[in-house]
Formats: sequence, C-alpha cells, structure tokens
Amino acid sequence: HVQISDLEFSYGRSSEAVVQDFQLHMQEGEIVSILGESGSGKSTILRLIAGLEHPSKGRVLVGGDTYVDQTKGYGLPVEKRGLGMVFQDYALFPHMTVEANILYGLKKWKRADRYARLQEMLDLVNMLDYKKRYPHELSGGQQQRIALARALAPKPSLLLLDEPFSNLDAHLQQRIRDELRETIKHTGTTTIFVTHDQEDARVLADRVVLVEEGTVQNIGRPCDLLKESLRQRDTETVRA
Ligand code: ATP
Ligand code: MG
Repeated sequence: HVQISDLEFSYGRSSEAVVQDFQLHMQEGEIVSILGESGSGKSTILRLIAGLEHPSKGRVLVGGDTYVDQTKGYGLPVEKRGLGMVFQDYALFPHMTVEANILYGLKKWKRADRYARLQEMLDLVNMLDYKKRYPHELSGGQQQRIALARALAPKPSLLLLDEPFSNLDAHLQQRIRDELRETIKHTGTTTIFVTHDQEDARVLADRVVLVEEGTVQNIGRPCDLLKESLRQRDTETVRA
C-alpha cells in the first residue's frame, strides 16, 4: 500500500542530508511507528511524505498514487494526496467550532453524507456533545481527539501522526493512546506514527522503524526490536 524508496533530503543546498536512503514498505491497514532521537529526521520524513518538503532523491507511492517521484521531477500537490495529518504545528482552526473543523475536509461530500460522517466521527472519539464548542473551550486531550476525528473524517489513504501526545500528561497520554489504537484499527487506516516514546510504539505499532541520522537503522515488530534494545542495555550493564 505504501512504498517509500531511497528518500533523500537536505535543508538548503549546501547543508548535509537530514534524510538519506530512507526506505519503508507498508501493507494496507498497518500501523508503523518511527522512533528516533531528537533531530534524527522523523518530522522531516513525514513532511516529505505529506509534500510539505520535496526530496532531492527518491519516490513515495501510496495506494496506486505517485505522491512524488524525483527522477521524473513529479510531485502531487499536498491537497491531492488524500492524507490525514495530525502534526504539532498543524492544530485545529481556532476560529472554527468543532463541527466546522471536521466538516472542513468534507466539502466535496454530499450534504447528507457529510453530516452523517460528522456524527460518526464525533461518536468514535466520544465527543458528540462538543460540536458547538471552539477549540479554546476544550481540554488538551479533547483537542487531540477532535484533531484525530478531523484527520480521519475524509477516509484518508494514509494517516500521518507527529507526536500527537506531546503536550499531554502521562495519564491522559495513556488513555488517548489506547483510544487512538481502537480508532485506527476500527477504521483500518494505514498509519505512520512518529514518536520518541518506546511505550507509544509498543502499544500502537505493528512494526517499528528505528531512525538514526535520517536513515533506517532497524525495522521489525515492537516485541523484537524494543526487547532487543533492552537486552543490549542489560549486556552493557553487565559489561560495565
Ligand atoms: P524531534 O524529535 O526533536 O522532533 P525530529 O527527529 O523530528 O526531532 P527533524 O525535525 O526532522 O527531527 O529535524 C532533522 C534535522 O533537520 C535536525 O538536525 C534539524 O535541526 C534540522 N532541521 C529541521 N527543520 C529545519 C529547517 N526548517 N531548516 C533547517 N534545518 C532544519
Ligand atoms: Mg519532530
């Protein structure tokens, strides 16, 4: 469903590449977590997939659409990529109600379908009573849920999440994470989820991609990869 090959990118022509040789293949409905240290290029990878930045090399194919193919000098405009995004700096529209925020992505839908979808999404994230509220009248966690509902409403072929829990307390983070997993699994949405929290990856991901300096350092099931890094730490402790 998703084929990313050979992505390369640098900010500014003379600076060094922050994404290099990045590869990722995903099946439809799969949830992949990208895990890595601060500055390792995680957000940049999502921005390249979304079309907010353009790679100097490589290809991104999603569900039969070519999002970008650098060899052909081709890039599909952001708004035609059929993506759902929840980025830290891509929040709800503050001047619009919850309802208007969600309907925004459904402009091309028939009126009756649009309102049915709105109800369905609000129900899914347990926010049916909040339709008429403005974002500033919601808690952080409620805003996150609405952002997710808005991203999922148009039935995106790919959902991109960049640390959507970063400003939540631990308790809320855990609750929203569990809800998120339910929601994504329920809708069967193919999802790439960026985090630096191992626990996020463990709970949410079918597979984990460990990124270092913009390149895939390892990829596998969370139970294998994350256990492995624990074991590594254990042997290091033993050696020390
Ligand atoms: P974090 O976990 O802190 O969000 P990240 O893995 O998402 O980190 P990126 O934001 O992708 O990392 O940044 C990768 C590298 O690119 C970093 O070295 C960063 O300083 C650099 N970088 C990011 N945005 C820009 C920009 N607009 N201009 C120049 N360099 C940038
Ligand atoms: Mg980031």
